[in-house]
Amino acid sequence: RKGTVIITGASSGLGLATAKSLAETGKWHVIMACRDFLKAERAAKSSGIAKENYTVMHLDLSSFDSVRHFVGNFRQSGQPLDVLVCNAAVYLPTAKEPMFTADGFELSVGTNHLGHFLLARLLLDDMKKSDYPSKRLIIVGSITGNTNTLAGNVPPKANLGDMRGLAGGLNGLNSSAMIDGGHFDGAKAYKDSKVCNMLMMQEFHRRFHEETGITFASLYPGCIATTGLFREHIPLFRLLFPPFQKYITKGYVSEDESGKRLAQVVSDPSLTKSGVYWSWNHNSASFENQLSEEASDVSKAQKVWEISEKLVGLA
Ligand code: NDP
Repeated sequence: RKGTVIITGASSGLGLATAKSLAETGKWHVIMACRDFLKAERAAKSSGIAKENYTVMHLDLSSFDSVRHFVGNFRQSGQPLDVLVCNAAVYLPTAKEPMFTADGFELSVGTNHLGHFLLARLLLDDMKKSDYPSKRLIIVGSITGNTNTLAGNVPPKANLGDMRGLAGGLNGLNSSAMIDGGHFDGAKAYKDSKVCNMLMMQEFHRRFHEETGITFASLYPGCIATTGLFREHIPLFRLLFPPFQKYITKGYVSEDESGKRLAQVVSDPSLTKSGVYWSWNHNSASFENQLSEEASDVSKAQKVWEISEKLVGLA
């Protein structure tokens, strides 16, 4: 049978390119889990994804109700779940004030981390039931959360601190809107959310790999400088960022190529190792990359897991 893969945020950028790459093989049915149904339908059509290879299902990661509804709808569809790709993200580098999810959490961490954490926790049960030979749960990471790299050292740097803001509910009222309890900074909130993504992938691995056989993985697909992720940035940045990445840092990767990379992590028989953060070299060959000290800190991972369980209502 065909594999069934859920990809969050498949209406643009990396998620869409990955959906296309997998659908083209004819071996996958892609559930495009998106907040904007029409945009996702249009995106699928204009990318030429054949109708029989995808379904759009509504998911707004900035609302726990929506996450739970999505899981219910997916279960009702009766399909097995073989691979889950947590890809969607918001990046608000120019925001002066924090924005909040439906449940009152700062929007970047609330969407990129908490929404995905609840989704992945709930869908783990569905994946356990699947008889697919290589089940995988993939959480997209980023170089920007890794302070052991040049890109990760561009201020403001990711830093979860002692997580007093997260523990306090990240609501900007009786707690800070930032995980470390500091002043709001949209660019840092995004980077912090990516550290949580990478920590959670490893914590899933430690807690569930042996018992379930599921492969847990993260990746940095390269700098896809042209995606919608940078839509909130100032116009001059959007103009100069792609050529800067192409000619100066040489970290640039096209949406097409990034989609092929993530599709490899979904289905390539050689990428089954669990607990791993994949990257690609200049020849587009994959390799197991090192995470920063913070992004591989076992006690921080445990703490993020435990606090997040409470925040999403699982504990
Ligand atoms: P895009 O902005 O193109 O795609 C992000 C996707 O997330 C969109 O489909 C967007 O939906 C969706 N999304 C945002 N908020 C929500 C929400 N509340 N509920 C459901 N979906 C939502 O960015 P990219 O393709 O670049 O980003 C994809 C992933 O790649 C992210 O995890 C990002 O961190 C990561 N990444 C990107 C890099 C880059 O250079 N671009 C580098 C490293 C990692 P909509 O279309 O409705 O806005």
